[in-house]
Amino acid sequence: MPRWSRRPDRYPVRQSESEGIESLVVRRREPEPLITGPVRTCVGCRAKASDSELLRAVVRDETVVPDPRRRLAGRGAWMHPDPACLRAAERRRAFPRALRVQGALDLAVLTAHIESVQLGSNAAGTPRGE
Ligand SMILES: [Zn+2]
Repeated sequence: MPRWSRRPDRYPVRQSESEGIESLVVRRREPEPLITGPVRTCVGCRAKASDSELLRAVVRDETVVPDPRRRLAGRGAWMHPDPACLRAAERRRAFPRALRVQGALDLAVLTAHIESVQLGSNAAGTPRGE
């Protein structure tokens, strides 16, 4: 029997811990083509994305309200929490179509919500130009 076949256990085995940490530092600026979980289409830019990346909105009394916890009943519209997508959706009248509502909808509440989301994300990262 070769001597090296019985390895002493007194050396603690350090699995490459640094590798696990590195894989967590993945920047999530651009959506990956590989999407896991439910996929929705943004009503603004029409891109498909995981529903965890999109904001759900529902209509209440002719006002579009954000539903970040996805608890509100009724038909929902999905979009990136991005002012550009909001403007695109507004221009194309995507909300009345997505929400099956006739006539104009008030987007002030949703706009304020998205702006506050943007401020929060800008604090952590780099501001995005247009
Ligand atoms: Zn979008």
